[in-house]
Amino acid sequence: MGVSAQAQTTGVIKPGETAQAIVVSTSQNGDFSGSNDPNYYQWYITRPGGDGIADYVTPKTWGVTAAGQIAVPANAAVGEYAVSINSNYFHPTYAPTGLYVHTTKSLQFNIVSVTMVNPSGDPTTAGEHKQGNTANNYTGNEFTFDDSTAGVLTIRCEAGLYPNNAITQAWAAQNVTWTVDDVGGSTKTWHDTPDGVETDNKGLVVYCRFKKLPANYDDFGTKEVKMTAQEVDTTRNIEVFYTAEAANYPGLDPNHVESNWFHYYKQNEGGADYTFDPIAETSHTPPGKTGQIMIARNAYSGIPYLITQVVDGQLTVTGVSPVVKYYADFIGTLAHEREHATHQVPMTDPSDTDHDWLPSQYEIDTTNTKPNQNYSARGILEDARNKDEFVDGEVYAHKVGAAAMNSADKSQDWAFPGSNSAYTAAITLVP
Ligand SMILES: [Zn+2]
Repeated sequence: MGVSAQAQTTGVIKPGETAQAIVVSTSQNGDFSGSNDPNYYQWYITRPGGDGIADYVTPKTWGVTAAGQIAVPANAAVGEYAVSINSNYFHPTYAPTGLYVHTTKSLQFNIVSVTMVNPSGDPTTAGEHKQGNTANNYTGNEFTFDDSTAGVLTIRCEAGLYPNNAITQAWAAQNVTWTVDDVGGSTKTWHDTPDGVETDNKGLVVYCRFKKLPANYDDFGTKEVKMTAQEVDTTRNIEVFYTAEAANYPGLDPNHVESNWFHYYKQNEGGADYTFDPIAETSHTPPGKTGQIMIARNAYSGIPYLITQVVDGQLTVTGVSPVVKYYADFIGTLAHEREHATHQVPMTDPSDTDHDWLPSQYEIDTTNTKPNQNYSARGILEDARNKDEFVDGEVYAHKVGAAAMNSADKSQDWAFPGSNSAYTAAITLVP
């Protein structure tokens, strides 16, 4: 009565589903008509975890039927299962010693767990946010369009699989599905490797590639990555950035190239009364010249600001702030330059008797500076080498800029590096 059970494969099932065993061996002898008594069936189920111990399981524990169907309990553990069902039928005439029919049914199946390995972490939690780039193989949770003309952003979508064997891998290749939110105006494709051929959005590792930067500043930012396996969704938020100092935004005018940060910051800020100056050391505006505001690179890369207080009714410089960077820097600089452009005048203007860019009445009504003394506000800069830069109009513009920096809404700063990116140096506000 030789029984050789060749394991059969039914692949991957979920707890609560039914697996169908396959007849691999039948021996029979004599008359085996009559009813099978399920109490004579014996089942071997190899436990998941690979300890090699075969459990001799009480009939019906797992709802095994004579036909070899196994209803896997809803609480069945994840793992690799091998099941052998021996159906020994004893003909009543010869019972209890006569074995007449011996049928072996067998199957292997896997109950899998699929977890999202990448993207990983939370881009809004300090200590968890992590820049995704070529050096670390597109992993992390903050992803940046590169500085190429086309502008490419690549996300590695990676799942962990247990048990991990040839059967489950083949299953996962077709049954683990990924989606990533659109990035407005950018073309999304899926690839088998970062630079590989185009494929579908399925598998344990697949790369989602975006090509072309979006036109709008608020099309960057938070996006959802979703992995679906066995009708269960796993989601994780990532953030999408542009390379700040590159210039590859859509519609770039080759005769007037702006850095990405200026292009998108300006769009976010909404104004039209200023222009990018790629050469100047610092931003500048002729006093009283609305429409001639020029914004330099240090309106992004960072500048310190004068700290002022009004002491006994007099505006006074009391300190210098640490360097302020990125969108707050931009908003503060803009407010500073707009102060020069809209409220101040050339030193030769008759309304400015002490030649400090501030009309005398404006000094009395608004700025808390002396209308008859052009350096009344420079305070601790009195002894500084470049103290002559700080006529009252300049000190007051610093005060206006500092207030704007402190209240700048940095939530839509998607420059890398920038206010919302990892690896960003501490951003200090003016005290
Ligand atoms: Zn100024």
